Amino acid sequence: MAGASQLPPRSPALPYGRQWIDEDDIAAVVDVLRSDWLTTGPRVAEFEGALAAATGAREAVAVSSGTAALHLTMLALRIRPGDEVIVPTLTFAASANCVVYCGGTPVFADVDAETLLIDPADVARRITSRTRAIVAVDFAGQPCDYAALRALADHHGLALVADACHSLGAAERGRPTGSLADLTCFSLHPVKNITTGEGGAITTDDELLARRLRSLRNHGVTSDRREREETGAWFYELVELGFNYRLTDFQCALGQSQLRKLPAWIERRQELARLYDTAFAGRPGIGRLAVRPDISHAYHLYVVRVAERDRVYGALRDVGIGANVHYIPVHLHPYYRDRFGTGEGLCPVAEAAYAEILSLPLFPQMEDEDAAFVVEALNAAVAGGALLVAGAALPAAATGATVLAVRAEAA
Ligand SMILES: *Cc1c(COP(=O)(O)O)cnc(C)c1O
Repeated sequence: MAGASQLPPRSPALPYGRQWIDEDDIAAVVDVLRSDWLTTGPRVAEFEGALAAATGAREAVAVSSGTAALHLTMLALRIRPGDEVIVPTLTFAASANCVVYCGGTPVFADVDAETLLIDPADVARRITSRTRAIVAVDFAGQPCDYAALRALADHHGLALVADACHSLGAAERGRPTGSLADLTCFSLHPVKNITTGEGGAITTDDELLARRLRSLRNHGVTSDRREREETGAWFYELVELGFNYRLTDFQCALGQSQLRKLPAWIERRQELARLYDTAFAGRPGIGRLAVRPDISHAYHLYVVRVAERDRVYGALRDVGIGANVHYIPVHLHPYYRDRFGTGEGLCPVAEAAYAEILSLPLFPQMEDEDAAFVVEALNAAVAGGALLVAGAALPAAATGATVLAVRAEAA
C-alpha cells in the first residue's frame, strides 16, 4: 500500500522484554518472608530440585546472577592465567568477562551467518594447546549445535559450557537446555524467560562439580549455616577462596512459582514468533534468523536484520516500540580492545550482523495486537519512511503528547 500510514505512538511504550508477576508469585514470596529462613533455607534446595527436573540435569545450583553462574563455572573448571576459553563474540559481555575474572584469556569465535550461533568450524580454527573450554551461547533462545561442539570438546579434551541465559525452556531433539553441555548457566534477571529479580543457576550431571559450586557460592567453606544448625556443629573450614553468590529463599520461592509457568510462556513466545515469521516471510528488507532442525526455540529474543538499522530503530522508538540491539560484538568493546588488542576484522560475520540486527518486542504478556502494531511500524520504517514529527514546533510542555507519524513511501 502506497502513501502515508499514521501510527499514533504506543503509550505506555512497548518494551523488548518484560517480567510477568502474578498474585501467586507475590504470595509465594510473602510466605517466605514470614518464615524463619530468609536465606540458605529449605526453599533453595526446593528450587534447585525443580530446576534440575525441568532441565533434565542431575544437579542445579542456584546463585545470585547469571554472571555469578558463569564466574563460578570458570572457577569450578579451574580456569587460571594462561588458559584460553573460546567464547562467541555476539553475546552479552559477561560470557567473556567470567574468563577474565579468573585471569584467563577469552578467545573470540565468529558466529554462523544464518543463525548467529557460535560457528563450530570457526571454534575449531581457534583451538590451541592452551584452550581449556568452549562457552556456547544460545543466542536469542536457540540451542547451539551441541553435537558438533561436543565432538570438538571431546577430541581436544575441553569442557563444554552452555551460556543458556536466553534459552531456559528450549530443547534440542526433546532434550532440554540444561542437559546439553557439561555445565549450563542460566540468568533469572527480569528480562529473561523467568525471573527472581536478580538470580542465576548452573546445571550439571557432575555431582562433584555441583558440590564445588555450592561451596564456591558460599565463600568456599565446607558447610553452610543450615547444615551446621541441623548437625549442631559450629565447625567449618575455608577450603578455597569463594564468594557470597547465594540466592535468597524468597527469591527461590519466586523462581519456583515462575518455573511452573515456563512451559506455557515458551508456547506463547513461540506463538508470537510465528506471527512475526508469517508477517515478515518474503518481505524484502527484513531478514530473519534461521532455526536449526529439531529445535524447540525459547524465543528470548526475536531478532531481524535490516539495512539502516539505526534509522529503523529510531523510527520504532518514536512510535513507542522499545526495540533493542543484541549485541555489540564483545571484541569491539573498548575494554577488550585495550586489554586484549581485539578489533575489527577478528569476527567478520558477527561484525556484519551487528550493523543490521534489531530485537523486536517479545514477552508472554504481549497481545497479538501488540505484535501486529510492531509489524506495521517495522514494515513502514523499512519501506523507507521518513519520520515526520508533526508538532515539532509545539511548546515544550506539549511534547509529551506530540503526535508522531511514520510516513511510508512505497519503494
Ligand atoms: C543476561 C545474560 C547474562 C548475565 O546474566 P545476569 O543475570 O544479568 O548477570 C550472561 N549472558 C547472557 C547471554 C545474558 O543474556
